[in-house]
This record gives sequence, C-alpha cells and structure tokens, in this order.
Amino acid sequence: MSLKEVLCQERGISLLRRAFAAGRVPHAYIFAGGEGIGKFKTASEWGKVLLCREPIFGDGDSVDSCGRCDSCRLVDSDAHPDFSIVYKELIEFTREGKNKKAPLDLPIDVIREFVVEKVSTRPSLSERKVYIIREAEKLNISSQNCLLKALEEPPEYCCIILLCTRLESLLATTRSRCQIIRFGPVGEDLIFEKLHNSGIGADAGRYFARLSGGSMGLACRWGALESSGAGLYKIKKEVVESIVKLEYGEIPDAAADLLEKSKAISKAWVEAEGATSAKDISRQAAKSVVRMAISALYDAMNLHLQRETTTVNSDQSDMIQELAGRFSAEQLAEMVSDCYEILRWIESNVNERLIFEQLLFNLAGSDRISA
Ligand SMILES: [Zn+2]
Repeated sequence: MSLKEVLCQERGISLLRRAFAAGRVPHAYIFAGGEGIGKFKTASEWGKVLLCREPIFGDGDSVDSCGRCDSCRLVDSDAHPDFSIVYKELIEFTREGKNKKAPLDLPIDVIREFVVEKVSTRPSLSERKVYIIREAEKLNISSQNCLLKALEEPPEYCCIILLCTRLESLLATTRSRCQIIRFGPVGEDLIFEKLHNSGIGADAGRYFARLSGGSMGLACRWGALESSGAGLYKIKKEVVESIVKLEYGEIPDAAADLLEKSKAISKAWVEAEGATSAKDISRQAAKSVVRMAISALYDAMNLHLQRETTTVNSDQSDMIQELAGRFSAEQLAEMVSDCYEILRWIESNVNERLIFEQLLFNLAGSDRISA
C-alpha cells in the first residue's frame, strides 16, 4: 500500500506533502478524528514516506514512498528498526511489566521505555525515526508529562505521530508542541461500496455504513463479523425490536439477553482479530450494541422533528414509527443523552450486566438507577 491509496483523507495528506516538499516536516503531529477513519493507515503510510530511500515525486507537492527500497520493504513486513508503533498493550514488554494485564490507559512505563529512552539513539537504517502512538487519548497525565521530554527537544531526525480520537483529552502542553491534522468522516457511499464488494447484502451494508458515522474501520469490522457468521445484522434487528416492545417487568430478562448478544459479538470479534486485548473487544462489542439502540432513538426523534436526515434504520421503518408513537421528541432526546452516558460507563469498566440493565431502564422511560 502507499499514501495515494488512503481513502478520503486528501486534505490532511496534502498538508503532510506540502510540508515535506518545503523541507519542513514537523517533529510531532497529532492526527485527530473519530475511530476507524484512516488515521493509523495515513500515519503508517506517511511514516513509510519519511523513511523511504527513494521517495517518488509527482505533480505539485505530491510525494509517495517507492514501495521497492529496503526501507519500504521492511516497513511492509513490520521489521523496520526505525519505525515503531506504540500502544498500551506493550506494558507486558516493559521492565516491570511481566504478567501485567493490558491497562485502561496508556501507561508511563510504555512511553518511557518505548519512546523517550529510544528517541536519543540515532536511526540505524533510514534518515529518520518514526513513532506512531496509538490511542493517544488514553495517555494519562504522567504519561503525557513523560512524553513532553521527547516533544520539547526532539532530535532532528525524529517524528512522533499521536493518533487521537478526543483532542480535549490531551494537555495544552502536549497539543502546543505538535502540528494538529484533523481527519473527517469517510463518505457513506464509499463505505457501502466497500462492504458490498466484500459480499455484505444491501440492507446490512447500508445499515452498517450509516451506523458507523463515517468510520470505515468500524464498518469493515462489523462487515467482517457479519461475514464470519456472527449474525450482527440479525442482532441489530432484534435489538431495535426489543427496544420498541420493551415492558418494564421484562427488563432483567431483556438485559440478560442483550448481555448474551454482546458476548456473542465479542467472541466472534476475538476469534477474528486474535492478538488484540479481549477486554477492549468486549467493551467495543457492548458499545456496538448501545450504538444500535442510539441510532433507533435518533431515527424516532428525527421522525418527530421531521428533519431531513438519513434514517439509519430505514430497513425497520415500521419499528421506528412505533417508537416515535411511544415517546415524545423530548423523551427520545433525553434517552439518547442517557445512552451516551452509558457509553462512558463502558469506557470506565462498569459491570456489563449493570450497563445493559441501566440501558433498558432508560429505554423503558423509567427513572435512573444508581451505578
Ligand atoms: Zn522506498
């Protein structure tokens, strides 16, 4: 792959190329934007350009990696000595980290041992060294303060790229030392086309493309789960139906059922992706189920407001109408906001059964229970 094959991020890529052509590549970037919209892909391909021995120059400022030199080949096979991808699960490979479980945040030991202590040694193969820090929104304050040592006085050969979904989670001191490049959502039709080409049916493909909100990564992951027989689309239809038909007395059973569904998604996901942290995947699966609920509430709310927006659940418009008949626009808006609160609970590791019970209490229009 090369930079020109990254989809829908032309604006950010042209900023990168312009700086390269002018000989002013910053020592630190923040690539900011939602999950799965191409930040990692762009960072990897950009790193490959920075390390390439014979970059190819096209029209204007256009530049790309050659794909053939020893540097490009080593990046492609994940073996380039000057190219590092830093993520929280590396804790296991730190000096004190043996048997430590993957943490919720990005710990200081990972930043110290995999970035700060390493930037001072010169590159061994290329002219530069590239560090990509994944999930930078999970850098805690001490990790960010530690990283500042590398950001404040970076060696001239060093380029650090922070990938971040929530810019506000980074300290002003971190942000001010990096060039911020913003990444926008990928177009729905492009996502649909990709899903369709991988064999996903039209209804499911259109639904996943809309639900993803422009996250190609998330949509493709759902698509892959669907193809692996995890029945994600069937689950979503059941989730929407159960929201519409939900009775107060059924909440415990319905919560157990949602928990089962979330676990089924999570199991298929772990099988498909192997190496990533099972705990993270279980959180992602739970979030996927909550997102399904949010999309149905939004659709019903928009029906009330007669907004000219795209209906995510257009395949279940009868259900959405029923939902709109059951709750007012204000009630639906409040339920959507409660569901976002639940997404935050998932991030802070609240017990999953409690999460689904609270979700259903919200959806049944009842008072809150306390966490
Ligand atoms: Zn090359």
